[in-house]
Amino acid sequence: MDSSNSWLLSRVLVRLVAGALGGVVGYWLGLHLGYPVALGIALGAASVLALSISDTLKGHQLLDWLRNPEDPLPQLPGIWAEVAHRVQRVLHLRDDAIAHERARLDEFLSAIEASPHGVLLLDATDHITWVSAAAADHFGLDRQRDLQQRVTNLIRQPAFVQYLAAGDFREPVKVPVSRGGQTWLQLHLQVYGDGLKLLQSQDITERERADTMRRDFVANVSHEIRTPLTVLNGFIETLGALPLTEVERKRVIGLMAQQAERMQGLVADLLTLAQIEGSPRPASGRWVRVAALLQRIETDARGLSRERHPITVLFEPSEQATEVSGIESEWLSAMGNLVSNAVRYTPAGQPIEVRWARLPDGAGEFSVRDHGIGIDAEHIPRLTERFYRVDGSRSRDTGGTGLGLSIVKHVVQRHGGELKITSEKGKGSVFTLHVPAVRVRRA
Ligand code: ADP
Repeated sequence: MDSSNSWLLSRVLVRLVAGALGGVVGYWLGLHLGYPVALGIALGAASVLALSISDTLKGHQLLDWLRNPEDPLPQLPGIWAEVAHRVQRVLHLRDDAIAHERARLDEFLSAIEASPHGVLLLDATDHITWVSAAAADHFGLDRQRDLQQRVTNLIRQPAFVQYLAAGDFREPVKVPVSRGGQTWLQLHLQVYGDGLKLLQSQDITERERADTMRRDFVANVSHEIRTPLTVLNGFIETLGALPLTEVERKRVIGLMAQQAERMQGLVADLLTLAQIEGSPRPASGRWVRVAALLQRIETDARGLSRERHPITVLFEPSEQATEVSGIESEWLSAMGNLVSNAVRYTPAGQPIEVRWARLPDGAGEFSVRDHGIGIDAEHIPRLTERFYRVDGSRSRDTGGTGLGLSIVKHVVQRHGGELKITSEKGKGSVFTLHVPAVRVRRA
């Protein structure tokens, strides 16, 4: 017999015994008073009733506690104490199971949160039921306030609204959003369960920018090559079709050589850029004498200027033994580009100053100052973009490729330094390469 049956039997027996005892006592008293049967029944019934009332009260106590199971367990006698303990155990087991499931859910949500992609859950009527931190950031949502809102009330971009309405979610959709600046998100919906939806968002701004840059770059290179090629073709046709005098032939060949040189310069700069971009950051264990660099730069500058500009190279005698670390050809290319620009954008007769100086913190500065045409402030932030020119025809006429300053910027950044530009239109410019202290030493 299990314990619940024995409990039931004991309650029944207790009532029977109490009823019988009450009946006997009542009958005995009734003998003296003249109503033995009536008094016996009355006392017997009263005893059973008293026991029932006592059980009802204990049952109530237990019920009260069950309504607030966090309260301390009431002190109950006998079998009631066991009932209360068993109920409490079941409640504890249930609480443990809930806590375990909650911990699993938290772990699962943390895993979703750890992803850089945003996740937004929608119910069958496209109302938001959960938003990850990344999704809140992508769409500018409030994770609490915006719950239960219809998604298209908050994400209103037409491309997304159409995507959701069309119901074909095999491919993701690209959506522009403005969060301070223009950002591109890739959104992909997945349907699961009973019409529920999971919306994944991925920030693809960098990828889009890289794609645009690549497209622009190819378009620019093609354009840069097409122009001299067209001119060359024209000359070739002329040479083939027309009987030219010796003087004319020499002039045409001279012009053709100019165009070929232009293409050669462009290819050389493209190769330099590709090489710089593709090679690892220069190690800091290779040292080059600054004085030797300056000497070569000066020779090249004088060659380019062909005596048209007074060129001075300045550095303290104490800097004779100073060295910078990195790749010699890259430093030469960066400095050479600045000096070549100074020569090309400075009218004859105006001076050009090349200077190396040490700063108090040990860093070094290589600068080129010219008194040439100068640059309007609005162009300065864009000068290091590939193919950006203030005046395209002047650049091309002087053999410019539009890539010089982007090479300079790359080289300096790879060496942990910085390119600073100050300029005033009509007055001249100063281009400075800042070399960090860790890359400068006295040999
Ligand atoms: P480019 O081959 O056209 O000179 P760069 O990248 O070297 O290309 O320079 C970009 C543009 O910056 C040039 O086209 C020119 O307009 C401007 N620039 C560069 N250096 C100078 C300078 N020293 N003085 C005036 N303008 C300059």
